[in-house]
Amino acid sequence: MDEKTPLTLLGLGDMGTALARTWLAAGHPLTVWNRTAARAEPLAAEGARIAATAAEAVAANALIVACLLDDASVGSVLDGTDLSGKDLVNLTTTTPGRARDRARWAQERGARFLDGGIMAVPPMIGVPESGGHIFYSGSRGLLDDHRATLAVPTGVTYVGEDAGFAALHDVALLSAMTGMFAGMSHAYALIRNEDIALKDFALLLQGWLTTMAGSAVQTAVQLESGDYKSGVVSNLAMMVEGNATLLRTAEEQGVSPELLTPYMDLMSRLLADGSPDEGAAGVVDLLLRHD
Ligand code: NDP
Repeated sequence: MDEKTPLTLLGLGDMGTALARTWLAAGHPLTVWNRTAARAEPLAAEGARIAATAAEAVAANALIVACLLDDASVGSVLDGTDLSGKDLVNLTTTTPGRARDRARWAQERGARFLDGGIMAVPPMIGVPESGGHIFYSGSRGLLDDHRATLAVPTGVTYVGEDAGFAALHDVALLSAMTGMFAGMSHAYALIRNEDIALKDFALLLQGWLTTMAGSAVQTAVQLESGDYKSGVVSNLAMMVEGNATLLRTAEEQGVSPELLTPYMDLMSRLLADGSPDEGAAGVVDLLLRHD
């Protein structure tokens, strides 16, 4: 496929603008449209063609990329445009269910559809060494035909034909990150009022979290095998005992335990179910129960 494939980008917020700049810099003919027209003007100076309406922007090229606020804005922007024969790539953050609905919606209008979940912030776009990438799922044919173009802003990670899988991977990673941020907030609260250099502590925290992140693979091995006792380095009985120390320390330091207790409660339930020799992998199954 020609590396200089022309394309249309709908949405010039912080992320859309960052994406646009990489395609322009790489020499791709780019047509842009944004609800607030003024946001497109700087890109015109960099070589983008500005469409007056979303319908005009969609008509301009076969490859259409949307990077809008949410799924509702994607629906309202594309409503009334002619998508037949188009390749629609939706980089708007959404849920797996909505991505699947949007895929059906696009196919009913004659378009191939690829959903994308962006694992980067705008300054990482166009910076390969930043480690950013986009999860893609949906039409394999679309991806194969446009891989070179889609790889211009950041890395491409295809996770399957199910259009919901990109959003699912995106949200799963963001959910894990949320837990990590919660843990960091608690850690900083513990030391906040002490004579400890925050920047020195930050490096220790970063190193520890990086080391412990390796346990993700061990959890996957246990979940896949169903054997939650093999390879356990920290057993549940010990960890639940340790939780009491964490909670007592929070109390001593005058820190609310509210970010820790939901997870600790699940560990205690697991232990009460009779799994002292296991690790914490069984918490995953507890979460899947709807009782
Ligand atoms: P911004 O808030 O900067 O931009 C939102 C864009 O959506 C603007 O172009 C805005 O147009 C447009 N928009 C909002 N509502 C409507 C509507 N009803 N009709 C038409 N256009 C609308 O967001 P970002 O650019 O940062 O984010 C875009 C997508 O990228 C989101 O889904 C976000 O989750 C995702 N993303 C963003 C990241 C980030 O760090 N920024 C990281 C990873 C993903 P207007 O200019 O007229 O308001």
